[in-house]
Amino acid sequence: MATEFFCTSCGTVGKPRVRNRGSSAIEIILWLCFIIPGLFYTLWRMGRKDRYCRNCNAPNPIPASSPMAQRHLAGVR
Ligand SMILES: [Zn+2]
Repeated sequence: MATEFFCTSCGTVGKPRVRNRGSSAIEIILWLCFIIPGLFYTLWRMGRKDRYCRNCNAPNPIPASSPMAQRHLAGVR
């Protein structure tokens, strides 16, 4: 089951947009020239995915199942 996220800025609940950090061009160059830095760069990119709200692009959606989101949803109605 996909995790849904709640946006604290606009109240949207849904799947966030996910962007990878860094660029694939740098990743390829590092892999071609230096295997080890390329490996670390790939791991760094995979570990750092940024989430953005689909509606307002706020960079801080929280899991919809979290207590904070539940409180917001109960209060807004
Ligand atoms: Zn939003």
